[in-house]
Amino acid sequence: MAVQRILIVEDTIDIAQALQYHLERRGYETFLATNAAQALALANTHSPDLVVLDLGLPDRDGYSVLEQLRQKDDDTPVLILSARNEEADKVKGFRLGADDYVTKPFGAMELMERVTVLLRRHARRAGDPAAGAASGNDLSDEALRTRFGLTARQVVVARLLAEGLSNAEIARKLVVSEHTARNHTYHVLTKLGTSKRARVGAILRGLA
Ligand code: CA
Repeated sequence: MAVQRILIVEDTIDIAQALQYHLERRGYETFLATNAAQALALANTHSPDLVVLDLGLPDRDGYSVLEQLRQKDDDTPVLILSARNEEADKVKGFRLGADDYVTKPFGAMELMERVTVLLRRHARRAGDPAAGAASGNDLSDEALRTRFGLTARQVVVARLLAEGLSNAEIARKLVVSEHTARNHTYHVLTKLGTSKRARVGAILRGLA
């Protein structure tokens, strides 16, 4: 397997160096950007497999980096690294398409685990022809709302189900309890007219 490449976006040099050290020890190749402009340039030229993104950057905040990546249809996993531990910040990050969120100060071991999980999940998604190739043809949010009567929140949950996320993963991603996530899943499946989570991907692409 090719060496996986990780873009580190972090302006605090000792944190950046610690990240580089731990990631490279695990066999990843790393690139470092110390501001938002550099991050976007490196993401473009180096096509990283994952981005570790600090929110507090000297030129623009990390959210704008994430937003611009996602606007280009770039679905590279993004792990936000932040000194802020506000729920609102996490929700904002996830809404913009972040895959995980780690609060500073963080433990290197935990961070490495999360990186491994994200890369694995992304590889699984990319390796699944039904999930990967057709991702550009998903029905629009508007279509999902009018066709199935989904609420905006349910559209978000439906897309996560289509990615194969479990209720626990959805709960973590949306910063809600697992009970709430289970409820959302139930309502989404009911409205989509299926009892099988595995069918959601096809339904969202208008194939079922
Ligand atoms: Ca910073």
